[in-house]
Amino acid sequence: MSPRPTKYIFVTGGVMSSLGKGLASASIGALLEARSLGVTFLKLDPYLNVDPGTMNPFQHGEVYVTEDGAETDLDLGHYERFTNARLGKVNNMTAGRIYDSVLSKERRGDYLGGTVQVIPHVTDAIKEAILAAGQDADVILVEIGGTVGDIESLPFLEAIRQFRADAGRENCCFIHVAPVLYQSTAGELKTKPVQHSVKELQTVGLAPDIILCRTDRFLSKAIKAKIALFCNVDEDAVITAKDVDSIYEVPLTFAKENLDEKIAQVLNMWTGRPDLRHWERLHNTRRNTERVIRIGMIGKYVDLTESYKSLNEALYHGGFACAADVQIEYFDSEKLIDAKVLSELDGILVPHGFGSRGVEGKIRAIRFARENEIPFLGICFGMQLACCEFARHVAGLEGANSTEVDPDTPHPIIALLPGQEEIEDKGATMRLGAYPCVLQPGSKSAEAYGTTEISERHRHRYEFNPEYRDRLQRAGLLFSGSSPDGRLAEVIELPSHPFFVASQFHPEFKSKPFDPHPLFEAFVRAAGKRQSAQAAKRGTASGAASGAAAAE
Ligand code: GLN
Repeated sequence: MSPRPTKYIFVTGGVMSSLGKGLASASIGALLEARSLGVTFLKLDPYLNVDPGTMNPFQHGEVYVTEDGAETDLDLGHYERFTNARLGKVNNMTAGRIYDSVLSKERRGDYLGGTVQVIPHVTDAIKEAILAAGQDADVILVEIGGTVGDIESLPFLEAIRQFRADAGRENCCFIHVAPVLYQSTAGELKTKPVQHSVKELQTVGLAPDIILCRTDRFLSKAIKAKIALFCNVDEDAVITAKDVDSIYEVPLTFAKENLDEKIAQVLNMWTGRPDLRHWERLHNTRRNTERVIRIGMIGKYVDLTESYKSLNEALYHGGFACAADVQIEYFDSEKLIDAKVLSELDGILVPHGFGSRGVEGKIRAIRFARENEIPFLGICFGMQLACCEFARHVAGLEGANSTEVDPDTPHPIIALLPGQEEIEDKGATMRLGAYPCVLQPGSKSAEAYGTTEISERHRHRYEFNPEYRDRLQRAGLLFSGSSPDGRLAEVIELPSHPFFVASQFHPEFKSKPFDPHPLFEAFVRAAGKRQSAQAAKRGTASGAASGAAAAE
């Protein structure tokens, strides 16, 4: 238990979505951690789904999986990447889950015949969730999803209004994120949307202590003074949250605006100055990299890169580790007929996925990577399809497939294991969360990790069918990672290929900018090597070759 009382920071958003509230919360967490405070997070989502696990990635972006197997909002990914907070089920709560718990209690008779109402029953459940998530931290950042003014946000806003009275005014800080828009015809920055959204907050009894203004340019002192005056906050509580090139610049931008100082003041916390050297180093590394490594991502949700958030970040982190900028190019697997379009890439990644759409395109891409010695990383579905591709084209098992894609395949390389077939519910019935895995000594994966005992997070229903293990092994596939009992295949690789590794788990969830995930680092390094070799072959680009020295 922390010796100090927990402090609560509530982050709301106004006017529109996609203001980067999640990143703002993560960045504030990073700044407070840099002041030696223990931080944690809670994302409150106003929708009625019990968790985001069953939501369409087109609508909702990535489903982020925690160690304890919760399928959560992608903002939890930002929080974990930016800080040392270890998050789980208690750190993401949807209105659906809150109502679910209230209704279960009602059915059990816990309310003793009372009328069950939004206030106090739903609001109490929300307050309990906040207390539970924050209990061991110095500071908890509670981000309210959605936009102030939405009907469905109301119970959450009411709950945090009450929370301030319960926890004490000096222990709560309200931060409101809203856009300050540049109106090009008038040539002016417009503060009205901010004013209106603060007014909206006031109608539910909330007043922000700090306003984070999302904008594409710095706010002058005069604009800040105007916002302060009309929104009833201190002038130094109006913060410019300017667009930046990389999300990893946000903590530094906020620090320059003294945001963390202001928060410490509002919460009456004594802390030392923040130590931001690691963020500065990261920023400098990024600024000084000239080398670009091109990775092709062969997926289904190519128009919405939010669906591959953690993967994208893990690739960038891999780039940080070898002083290179990773450029991700998305290919729609449904349209991938001739895999030759991939020949200029330095590496190919086939990500997670569900269902049969676009599968053959992914298999073509995997085959192309395997036959042309292009570094390949397969994640989850990507690993399953790599097994199918190998079975079909190397082990001679024609028509090999996953039963998810082709229930009548003659060779069910990937299938539901006995006991799994009966499951009917879709929500939270996959293999979820962290599982241990043992790596084969001397394999590329063991070499990358520098150890043979690892633990990684999963989110899938189907598994490699153990009946085919010997057959594929004899044909040259190495099962380099398995569950400790040896039953489940967790990592495969091709020893004869420069880098062909695929995992049943999702390594991307554990990658951090300061601690790039070993598999992504190894993959990007291998891609860099191929790039140098190709450049040397063409006899051009001495620059690329010398840049390569840094990467290897
Ligand atoms: N659809 C596959 C399964 O459920 C893979 C899931 C994934 O890629 N996350 O097993």
